[in-house]
Amino acid sequence: MTDKRLATQRYGGHLVLIVLALFLLVMGRSLVADAADGDDDVETAVPTDGDDTADNSEMDSPADETSSPITHTEELPVFEDTSLSPALNPYTYQPKLPEHTFQTYTVQRGDTPNKIAERFGIQPETLLGGNPFLSEESNLLQSNAELTILPVDGLLHDVAPGDTLEGLAARYSVPVEEIIAYAPNNLEFPYRLQPETQILVPGAVRELFVWEPPTLTTVSSNTSGGIRPVVRGTGTFVWPIISRYFTQYFWYGHRAIDVATPEGSTTVASDTGTVTFAGWNVYGYGNLIVINHGNGYETFYAHLSGINVVPGQVVVQGQYIGATGNTGNSSGPHIHFEVRLNGNQDDPCFYISC
Ligand SMILES: [Zn+2]
Repeated sequence: MTDKRLATQRYGGHLVLIVLALFLLVMGRSLVADAADGDDDVETAVPTDGDDTADNSEMDSPADETSSPITHTEELPVFEDTSLSPALNPYTYQPKLPEHTFQTYTVQRGDTPNKIAERFGIQPETLLGGNPFLSEESNLLQSNAELTILPVDGLLHDVAPGDTLEGLAARYSVPVEEIIAYAPNNLEFPYRLQPETQILVPGAVRELFVWEPPTLTTVSSNTSGGIRPVVRGTGTFVWPIISRYFTQYFWYGHRAIDVATPEGSTTVASDTGTVTFAGWNVYGYGNLIVINHGNGYETFYAHLSGINVVPGQVVVQGQYIGATGNTGNSSGPHIHFEVRLNGNQDDPCFYISC
């Protein structure tokens, strides 16, 4: 028993040495082996002290000729075995990608969203559906702006990680079947959406972000001296500036009017009311004044260069409130004027003659 175990330990030790020696040989390293055992198996694999010098000089001499590690590529074995190349699998899932072709249109001077939409037989909101940037004040429908014209009413959705067909259908309130039925979407069972593609969602309308100003009660409660009596407007509206040079009318993608006017032009309150916001607005309005007229109406004066009122201040119709400018998402000196009734953006031209 004891002898057998000893033998196992010895031979086991030899085996480890053999593996180690082979590894080191392959690495081109010199190895000083202890062959004291006199074991034949070890001697065949591991060079003895006496053989070392000759072996090492043979192995090292080519590398000594140059310092570059890549010099003897011609000595490397060339693999010609191709058995590891993957075979073509005809059953691999190869999804079709959407293949859209869109017309483009370059905005001409004097164009309006309604005119452009009519020309292509689509709804004005579809202009926003194909061109999300239109909802940003800075770009507008300016001359030379290049628009993507969708062939049918709807919107173009950029597929994002995690998007599913069911998710899109729910988000845009459009049945899954209608998204699949739009042929250029190239949707086939199992209807996986592919990243970095666009899906046209027929009939969908792109939602607009609408920033909401503080309410009258919020502003009033900030002032000392108890509850401020609600100042009611006249219910009539006057032009906030002198200029009548429209650069954009009210439409689905822009619920306001833009009127060009030199920076610093006088801006007046369109009706009597209480200022609920006066300052910088991070949502593109730039310097903004909002007046709550106490009768459901609010008016917005955006992109100003100067503000002469403070929140909580009561102003009367026609009173100077600030100066027009070119701040926020604005691409030229103009005023962006909004009229909201109970929070809904109305066409200001209903209230002031345009
Ligand atoms: Zn505007």
